[in-house]
Amino acid sequence: MAMFRKKHLAKILSSLERFKDPKIELEQYETPGDVAAEMIWIADMKGKIRDKVIADLGCGTGILAIGCALLGAEKIYAVDVDGDAIEIARRNAVKMGCNDYIEFLKMDVSDFDINVDTVVMNPPFGCQSRNADRPFLNKGFEISNDIFSLHLARRDVERFLEKYSAEFGFSVHFLKKMEMELPARFFFHRKRIERMDVNIIHFERDKRV
Ligand code: SAH
Repeated sequence: MAMFRKKHLAKILSSLERFKDPKIELEQYETPGDVAAEMIWIADMKGKIRDKVIADLGCGTGILAIGCALLGAEKIYAVDVDGDAIEIARRNAVKMGCNDYIEFLKMDVSDFDINVDTVVMNPPFGCQSRNADRPFLNKGFEISNDIFSLHLARRDVERFLEKYSAEFGFSVHFLKKMEMELPARFFFHRKRIERMDVNIIHFERDKRV
């Protein structure tokens, strides 16, 4: 696999095909290329991407899965409940030449049942239906020791994540805050773009003694 600089990775990921008709009830919005690159890059610096088996929960158009493949992941399971998204993700993977490393699975994340080294995800923030992020967190805690994820950088969300993950024996590391554009309709049912701060988070299973 080629060597990448972070900026180069961000540029490549920004060029991928996007959702055609985003499904609002599934909170479909792509992670911006720079945010996706940042998350995968940090995870790789921590030794959690290269040569690892990874699950991308709610893969959408595949940006996180493809980022992992480009940084040398051994294998990525890309899971999404929406067949239209999977089709786009597959096209993106073929275009990027990393189709062989990614297995696409059309299913609810709750039904995915394979233990992996690392989970990457940008789950629904739970703005459309409350607690929509819960199945993603639960599954991550079940199948992996290291989860890299994006969540709204809001004090109440941060407190919730700390409390919730502690119940599963995980610690929360807030790695970086980034600004991201989100369709306002997810929050206010208005057709606008809203700038929001999101946290790149590493959930790490506490060592058992
Ligand atoms: N990971 C992509 C997409 C994020 S949008 C990116 O970072 O750009 C969230 C994705 O989760 C959507 O593609 C949506 O179809 C999917 N999704 C929502 N609920 C789901 C569920 N219960 N099971 C599987 N996928 C789900």
